[in-house]
Amino acid sequence: MTTARKPLIAGNWKMNLTGAEASALADACAREASGNSAVDVAIAPPAIWLERVLKIAKDTPLKVWGQNAAEESSGAFTGETSFPMLLDAGATGALLGHSERRHVFGESNASVGTRAELGVRLQADVVVCVGEQLQDRKNGTTMDVVREQLEPILSSVPFERLTVAYEPVWAIGTGETATPEQAQETHAAIRALLVKTYGEDGESIRILYGGSVKPANAKELLSQADIDGVLVGGASLKPDSFAAIIAAANA
Ligand code: PEP
Repeated sequence: MTTARKPLIAGNWKMNLTGAEASALADACAREASGNSAVDVAIAPPAIWLERVLKIAKDTPLKVWGQNAAEESSGAFTGETSFPMLLDAGATGALLGHSERRHVFGESNASVGTRAELGVRLQADVVVCVGEQLQDRKNGTTMDVVREQLEPILSSVPFERLTVAYEPVWAIGTGETATPEQAQETHAAIRALLVKTYGEDGESIRILYGGSVKPANAKELLSQADIDGVLVGGASLKPDSFAAIIAAANA
């Protein structure tokens, strides 16, 4: 990555951890964030643990995000969490369009766009996840898919509030990682799209890579010109492995 973009290491805890485990992990993450001022550190805990995690993160540089946010601010949407709720609790933003939301829960590109629009209107940061499925990569249509996923976002999200997470679906939770070259190729194409949309400001938007990132592969991924950080699932659940990934960004 270029020195102008501060590395961002983010952990997505998904639907894991007891309350006590969440507190202990948040404590370790807050310590890592405080001890690595050259790196931004963020975590996305399950909504039910947000309040306890936010208490621990208070007065530390650790950022806390929701794992998703609803299209609407409030109403009859059982099981959903809204941007006003996340912000009221103290979170600063949310992941949107994670591959599990798109492919398990059927959230469309347009729906992700609506969520992002609401979030930025309320001054939330949005971390928009995009990525192709294995068949798309085999068909050579990776960037067509990613462009379609980004289209509803680019029209409405100001560059200061946007982080893009490129997560090839075939690499998430599978142990299979894109090679640094494969990841960089797509990141460079996303960068070009951001610059086309936002002009020079597109250079300051961070593009994270996600998909089976571990201590063993983090450094090489992070050394690529357009990989500005990583979004980590499994390896963010253990303090030691998450700390080692943060250390790789600080090297
Ligand atoms: C993710 O959940 O965004 C992710 C990349 O998961 P994992 O690191 O486990 O592949």
